[in-house]
Amino acid sequence: MDLTVVSTFRCNSRCQMCHVWKYPTAPEQEISLETLAKLPGGFDNLNLSGGEPTLRRDLAEMIDILYPKARVMEISSNGLYPERLVPIIKKYPNIKVRFSLEGDESTSNRIRGEKDGHSTKVAGLRKLKEAGGTDLGFAFVIQDENVGQLLNVYEFARSQGFELATTTLHNAWQFYKNDNHFYDRTKVAKPIENLITELLKSRNVKNWFRAYLNLGLIEKVLGHERLIPCTAGSDFAFIDPWSDVWACNVRSDIPLGNLARQSWSEITHSDLASEGLKKVACCTQNCWMVTTARTAMRSRIVPQMPKMRPMTWVLKNKLKVALGKPICFEQYIDYGNVKPTRQVPRTSYLGTKHKGNKLDRNRQTPQERYPQLDYINE
Ligand code: SF4
Ligand code: SF4
Repeated sequence: MDLTVVSTFRCNSRCQMCHVWKYPTAPEQEISLETLAKLPGGFDNLNLSGGEPTLRRDLAEMIDILYPKARVMEISSNGLYPERLVPIIKKYPNIKVRFSLEGDESTSNRIRGEKDGHSTKVAGLRKLKEAGGTDLGFAFVIQDENVGQLLNVYEFARSQGFELATTTLHNAWQFYKNDNHFYDRTKVAKPIENLITELLKSRNVKNWFRAYLNLGLIEKVLGHERLIPCTAGSDFAFIDPWSDVWACNVRSDIPLGNLARQSWSEITHSDLASEGLKKVACCTQNCWMVTTARTAMRSRIVPQMPKMRPMTWVLKNKLKVALGKPICFEQYIDYGNVKPTRQVPRTSYLGTKHKGNKLDRNRQTPQERYPQLDYINE
């Protein structure tokens, strides 16, 4: 149903919650156009991600290959090179583009280690709108440092005619990070309630289901069980820059195959894939990422439609909000049961010179590529 292509681990941001930029891939080792062409058509959502996908010189060619293979083609970018996306948007105006933004100017730049990031990406998204883009928005990683600005960023995005996607701290091979922990779970979770209410007030149906996705984020932040079981490996998969296919972007122990060496059909029908599905079925990780949670929320038969559980929740609470009544969050969320958290400081890399370790460019084995092995979300 959904696929994310992690096209590179090179990145020109220096985020505090994702250390991909410390482990850049060598361009010549990154997934090739020939390999991408082996993907079948018929995906619902195909996300071109990274690292930073605009650092790929063959970005336009990658899009030409991937665009016809999906109902929704998405590019997840840090937004620091918006001009590289302008010709792509002129050619394919309905490509979904999300630029990462973590709050007001100083907060966003500090979290993301970007000198003029905020102004560049805001101006850049406007440029994409002028170029004819029809599905543009920001993506916000909710964390202790910026949760107080969540509602402001939503209002700002709305005022500009942009969408706002939200996610929160995770540990994952895709981020080269295994020590992202909330400092205070309740303080991070509680303000998300206000966003949920505002999303339900909006006339945008997508926002109503984002409200449910944010309810799942509250549960994740507090350390509670997922709202909907995970469908990794069957409804979504990830391809990393070395063309390895994974059930999800968190666990580096659920490989499915390698698209450079195998066909898509060989991968999906392999013993490795069957073993992977068994691991997913008993996975105890507490994760709720935007890419994978939104897949789990949708029907497998008609992916444009939600599953019954989110549908019922949305209809009930949309009606409440429309009648001017408050949402009874305590009915869904047990704030009396908050998992303990570890205190691992996150540091801003704004102004630092660290450019990544060139030695890491020659990683050959999965163990060398993902040395932290067990990426844990509690
Ligand atoms: S979160 Fe995105 S922009 Fe930030 S370092 Fe990771 S890949 Fe780069
Ligand atoms: S629940 Fe487990 S299998 Fe599913 S995305 Fe999270 S880590 Fe991966």
